Amino acid sequence: MTTAIPADRAQRIAALGYDYAAQPKEAITLCNLCGGSSFVVLAHRDRYGFPAEAHACTFCGLVFLNPRMTASAYARFYDGTYRPLVSAFHGRLIDPKTIQAEQRDYAAERAAFVRPFIEQANLASMLDIGGSTGVVAHHFAREFDLEATLIDPAPLEVEEARTLGLETITGLVEHHEFGSQRFDLVLICQTVDHLLDISGVLDRVRHLLSLQGLLFIDIVDFRAAYLRNWSVEDAIKIDHPFYLTQETMTGYLRRAGFNIVRTDYAADHLHVSYLCWPDVPVTDAFPRADTVARLLREVRFVQNAPYRL
Ligand SMILES: [Zn+2]
Repeated sequence: MTTAIPADRAQRIAALGYDYAAQPKEAITLCNLCGGSSFVVLAHRDRYGFPAEAHACTFCGLVFLNPRMTASAYARFYDGTYRPLVSAFHGRLIDPKTIQAEQRDYAAERAAFVRPFIEQANLASMLDIGGSTGVVAHHFAREFDLEATLIDPAPLEVEEARTLGLETITGLVEHHEFGSQRFDLVLICQTVDHLLDISGVLDRVRHLLSLQGLLFIDIVDFRAAYLRNWSVEDAIKIDHPFYLTQETMTGYLRRAGFNIVRTDYAADHLHVSYLCWPDVPVTDAFPRADTVARLLREVRFVQNAPYRL
């Protein structure tokens, strides 16, 4: 089904004056997960109405924006457009102050999920990648007595994190030089879908993690996102260069050298979380062909079946 964007929502988004079509972009020619080069175009616009194409790799089923904005265009997007755009979409103010209540609930839920594993281990340090205002890192640091570092590209959000007494870095984990620093816990919370190079970041994280380290990562499950609104376009948004499924995220983790020890379907039925230990990388950990075929069939069904089941 294709849903129309309600007029008041479209008006609020238009009022921001963000010209997505004019932003510098780059074409993706190789799949970030499997290196394949055969893609299917699944959608031609996103939930805001911007002309963004979502492609799926026909070999592994990874879904991603193509073309997608350059790193510098995304840096400008996060510095002043991202939160106002999400606010315009929802019709309520979402900014570095207002998101903190939501992040506190999220932090408590995630801490409960990892607690049994953290308490068994002897962990001292943590890194929160894309840590936003620091609410989650601060909660983890306090609950588990960890030395916390936060890295995020949004200056206003990092400013909030600094006031919580966290070690902060304004920037991208792909570019920051950590030297010999290693971390016992790495959090990638509600962030992986925003990355520009998931393979590169996971390889980096694998090296940044200490031997007894733990990785927590969660995804917006792409299938859950289109099934709940019965619309593929409504599951696409320019803020997410990537759209992960359980199969593609598992493939990414295994290939980067992570063993998933626990998976959690969040109470919102949209997010899926993974807790992982370092392991030996599995080089061919790609989703199977029948999984990819099923995804593409389901997308076509959702696009064309007139009614919700
Ligand atoms: Zn692929």
